[in-house]
Amino acid sequence: MPRKILVPWAMPEIGREVLRRAKVEGLFIHGPKGAPPDPKEWIRKLLEADVLLPRIQRISRKIMIVNPNLRGIANYGVGYEKIDVEAATKLGIPVTNTPGVLTETTADLAWSLLMATARKIPQAHQFVQSGQWERSAGKTIWGLDIGPGGSNKPKVLGIIGFGRIGQAMMRRSRGFKMKVMTYDPYKKAIIEKTRGVEYQDLHNLLKQSDFVTLHTPLTRETHHLIGREELDLMKSTAILINTSRGPVVDEKALVSILKKGKIAGAGLDVFEKEPKLAPGLSKLENVVLLPHLGSGTKDTREQMAVVAVRNAVAMLRGKRPPNIVNPEVFDSREYHRRLGT
Ligand code: NAD
Repeated sequence: MPRKILVPWAMPEIGREVLRRAKVEGLFIHGPKGAPPDPKEWIRKLLEADVLLPRIQRISRKIMIVNPNLRGIANYGVGYEKIDVEAATKLGIPVTNTPGVLTETTADLAWSLLMATARKIPQAHQFVQSGQWERSAGKTIWGLDIGPGGSNKPKVLGIIGFGRIGQAMMRRSRGFKMKVMTYDPYKKAIIEKTRGVEYQDLHNLLKQSDFVTLHTPLTRETHHLIGREELDLMKSTAILINTSRGPVVDEKALVSILKKGKIAGAGLDVFEKEPKLAPGLSKLENVVLLPHLGSGTKDTREQMAVVAVRNAVAMLRGKRPPNIVNPEVFDSREYHRRLGT
């Protein structure tokens, strides 16, 4: 029987083309106008598939055991917190993601959000559209050090999580003559070797930064990494940017801090309970809010589809996929049982 890949979302045509060229059958299932399919319907289809290529679905152990011969889960996206990787590893199922192709696009969005929040661009746009001509002062981004007495010192960008996207933010900051501080306990050696970047512990970074930008994955450790205590440490003039994952920030605490004006503003692309927002967040004037747009350009979404399909096809054929997140699975007996090797 030919092996199949289950795609429970409206994958771009280019991904389907890669599947056709690989002579692999795709089981595509989604609602009208590309809406997510009914969970019961796609989970049932899992019995006919050898590899699952999910997009936003939460993949629990319960779903993984529907098909005892499942050969892999190819996540569409770099963040894979919705997949229970621990359970997948125990069951002998490889899991992959799509790193790299979305790095610059996501950093572009994070940088745009930083600028839009600092200069209050959406608010100004709304004024002009509604026939008003109101100009409120924003916050300087480009630092200019004019020596003693100069009020406009280089601004400090605090990057939390110095991986692919965090480093792409550092590259962008160079064009703005900013001073960069970063906190990432797993990248200390790399940070120490990087020119123009200062390693700081989390609390010192928060105390000194004019802009704080978050680029960690969502893990047990980063859940509410930025809570009330951390927000309290930030300067009253500072801006927080989050394009990582909503639960990295305690959204309720953020609303309360923003309401009191204890920080200057926040630019958020991600939320704790998307698409719901914490009470009061949408009413605030010092926020810019986006509907999880980070990697959302046509080109990048297409490249992600190609990468996800390549991973899926490799797993289907029992080969090592290019972007494995649980490589230890290849040594497990369960994995070899699934492959019959
Ligand atoms: P990456 O793995 O290259 O970088 C993540 C960095 O975070 C690593 O350097 C890691 O050491 C660091 N880190 C882990 N735990 C940490 C902690 N407790 N404190 C500080 N640093 C910690 O990943 P990436 O490609 O840069 O992507 C980062 C995240 O951005 C993804 O996991 C995803 O959740 C999110 N993302 C969001 C969008 C969007 O649409 N908004 C798009 C792409 C990625």
